Amino acid sequence: MDLILFGPPGAGKGTQAQRLIDILEIPQISTGDLMRAERKSGSALGKEFDEFMSKGLLVPDELVLRLFQQRLDQEDAKKGAIFDGYPRTVPQAESLDGVLAERDRKVDVVVSIEVGLDEMIERIVHRRSCEACGQIYHLRYNPPPRADACSCDGKLVQRKDDTEEVVRKRYDEYLQKTAPIVDHYKKKDVVKAVDGVGTLDEVTDRIKQAIGGVS
Ligand code: ADP
Ligand code: ZN
Repeated sequence: MDLILFGPPGAGKGTQAQRLIDILEIPQISTGDLMRAERKSGSALGKEFDEFMSKGLLVPDELVLRLFQQRLDQEDAKKGAIFDGYPRTVPQAESLDGVLAERDRKVDVVVSIEVGLDEMIERIVHRRSCEACGQIYHLRYNPPPRADACSCDGKLVQRKDDTEEVVRKRYDEYLQKTAPIVDHYKKKDVVKAVDGVGTLDEVTDRIKQAIGGVS
């Protein structure tokens, strides 16, 4: 199954993706994580990313797509994957559709996680993630076992862009560029809306129900 987890920043996409990996037994593909890993690896492609990222520029779609295809063709992703944070624009959604079609696959379901702006802000300013393993916490809703450390002992860090001001900007950008993706997939009749407000387990259950009939 190929599944897009969709929603505004802070909706809980990363958190739910980490849970769905075990439930669906398919990997999560996060282009943000892939790009960071590729830069660290020092590969030729990583160096190309570096040129853009170090100047604070957006990495061109074409480069992101190349990395994405490499990941999609690894053995563990052959039966499907959970896409989180990609696609971000309608042209990216069209590229994704094309890349999947070349492999006789398609986006089977788009789970659209819905939360309001106030809830989003509250979640993002208290978000922390583990530098070592990537586990996502919320200081109140999903607190780490100890104040400043992950269950793996890794250090917890706050993303630089996780401030209220930046979140409001990211939300505007989401409304303008990312939200239209839902209409693109509604035409294909694969969108399932899920209420994102509730405990982590409640939201996971709603997602499981929403994709229940999809194979
Ligand atoms: P996204 O990937 O959509 O940006 P995250 O999964 O990183 O969102 O979640 C954003 C923040 O909200 C994190 O701090 C996370 O722990 C918290 N969070 C996620 N799901 C819930 C939920 N159902 N209730 C409360 N907080 C949540
Ligand atoms: Zn950790």
